[in-house]
Amino acid sequence: MMRPLARPPWEPWFEGADAGLVAQSAFGRFCAACERHLNEGVEAWDARTGRRAAARATASGWDDLLPLCVNCLAASEAAAGADLGDDAGLRPDRAAPFADAAAPPFTYVSVPVAVRGADEAGDASAPATVERVLVRGHTPAAVAMIGRFALNTPHHVVTSDGGDALLLPAGTPLRLLDAYDPRLERRTEAWVDAEIAADALAAAPPGGRGAALRSLGWGMRFTGFWSVWAQVLWDRLQDDEVLARVRDHPAYLGTRAA
Ligand SMILES: [Zn+2]
Repeated sequence: MMRPLARPPWEPWFEGADAGLVAQSAFGRFCAACERHLNEGVEAWDARTGRRAAARATASGWDDLLPLCVNCLAASEAAAGADLGDDAGLRPDRAAPFADAAAPPFTYVSVPVAVRGADEAGDASAPATVERVLVRGHTPAAVAMIGRFALNTPHHVVTSDGGDALLLPAGTPLRLLDAYDPRLERRTEAWVDAEIAADALAAAPPGGRGAALRSLGWGMRFTGFWSVWAQVLWDRLQDDEVLARVRDHPAYLGTRAA
């Protein structure tokens, strides 16, 4: 699944304002593609060109303005020369409403990922495995979107035996990749936080449920990854009240509910 966005009408104060700020004011401080929290800054993206938007918002550009993180912007700009077609990637501001997501185009999986690097002589280093949460696409458009934004990082590959691996350039430890492109690591952290929240809710006595829901809300606010929270909590609890908390979270501005 992905967070479906409802674009609000253009407002006069948007004209000439910082485009990243305008995008945040409409959709919250989260990347529209990978959904991470944008605590390191917001990039304004033009969905029509696939490139960075003009620094100042304009009415003519409003229908294509979305907030992205620096890594999703870099991936999109690298892919923008490719012939992606008009509908090759899903746009979250045109995605189906959340209620229609019976067969979501995206799902998240926590899987072992082989880390393969090369030492300075070019020899493969000893393999290591880390647990990471990857996004899988189930429609051609979803697969295209994962590719366009490199949502599993540009280093992710599927190996000949169908496994997942991160192929790191020579001399690049995984922690350097995580520092440069923290999307996988932070998505995995959000997954773990969502599982802990689900456990707390499942175990909460009636009098403790409010506190568990409040804690869940704080976790969502500061980690991002709305869809990861939605998937984990729904799969674990199938609780409409919890799902409504996720759907209506006040930090996630512009979530389209129906
Ligand atoms: Zn992103």
